Amino acid sequence: MIVTQNWKREVVKGDVLIEGDRISAVGHVKTRPDEVVDAAGCIVMPGLINCHSHVAMSLMRSVADDVKLDKFLDMTFAIDARRSPEDVAIGAALGCLEMAKSGTTAFLDIYYDEDRIAKAVETVGIRGYLGWTVLDEKFTTQKGKPIKNCEAFIKNHKNSPLVKPIVSVQGVYVCSDETWMAARELASKENTFCHYHVSETRPEVYEHQKKTGKRPVEYLSSLGFLGKGDVAAHGVWLTMNEVRLLANAGVSVAHCPVSNMKLASGGVAPIPEMVAEGVNVCLGTDGCSSNNTLDMFSEMKFASLMHKAHKWDAGVMSAQKCLDMATVDAARAIGAEKTLGSIEPGKKADIVIVDCSNASMSPTRADNAVANIVYASPSREVRDTIVDGRFVVRNRKVVTLDERSVVQKADEEAQKLMAGLR
Ligand SMILES: [Zn+2]
Repeated sequence: MIVTQNWKREVVKGDVLIEGDRISAVGHVKTRPDEVVDAAGCIVMPGLINCHSHVAMSLMRSVADDVKLDKFLDMTFAIDARRSPEDVAIGAALGCLEMAKSGTTAFLDIYYDEDRIAKAVETVGIRGYLGWTVLDEKFTTQKGKPIKNCEAFIKNHKNSPLVKPIVSVQGVYVCSDETWMAARELASKENTFCHYHVSETRPEVYEHQKKTGKRPVEYLSSLGFLGKGDVAAHGVWLTMNEVRLLANAGVSVAHCPVSNMKLASGGVAPIPEMVAEGVNVCLGTDGCSSNNTLDMFSEMKFASLMHKAHKWDAGVMSAQKCLDMATVDAARAIGAEKTLGSIEPGKKADIVIVDCSNASMSPTRADNAVANIVYASPSREVRDTIVDGRFVVRNRKVVTLDERSVVQKADEEAQKLMAGLR
């Protein structure tokens, strides 16, 4: 059963023909292939796209839970400041494995030491849209100028098939006008886009307003920073005026419902309002210290439930809309609408096969497949993950590297990282 996510949102029974890294036919395929993968009793769907993460923070899973935001930030900053390129590398590998095994085939990342993260992405074999964080020098522990580090990272990774280097900006609380505009200039020069945090918490908005007289999105707009094709993460504390500024500028918003709820930063991102105003909305898990998983199936479910509960309306944020936000809308957000997000001839073969022959996914039919994907939490039933036409996970086993040794090494590095902090 193929959940195509094509423009008609068709669910069809049939075959998917993959040639090289592309899908060449969908439906009734007559060609005799070199290899047949039997997916009877399964859902075949496009790989999910996680539009906001800090994958290397997987080593920091469950390090600061059930504490107030200021305490959470103190704890995570203290750990962040001690990180080495080696533990960033192993944390990224761990995160990429978790994503591949739970049906995510591409992700958007903000962090430093992105060269190490790029290596993990290439080894595991999923797609990484990676941005080396740009912020004011006085606020960073990075060696060298952040903007120069970002530029060098882009230059070194321009031609990788799986890594797309982007420009990441931390947020208004650590970036001057000059830093924002330097990031903008770099993105246009390198023909890429910017990904940044915006209006995640109320203190962020109020402090910025006190400092500049403007709310963060109004400020970025008046600066001339807002750019078509950018992705802003969170967008919780926005006015309708700011929603319209984002819509008019062509900025997508990566909604992170689990992280927002877990950190209890209050409020509910005005997602139905954004959609109504024409903002392209996608979904992100954020980092593992505030989620504490990179599971996009659960992110879709939480996104739907958060807004239904908040609006007293079971009709808002339908299963179909949530699946769109994790596939086709996400592909549009990262400028990959022609190559990713759906199962259609000509697109890249980024495909996930979900086993439905088990109690938790039965019954699955064409008319409830999308609802099961969003509400029945099938991440544990992901059987195969294919990226760029190659298996990354096959029969529930990672085939690109030895999962056990990565997990063991990650445990050791996490112990070292946390030593003396607790
Ligand atoms: Zn974040």
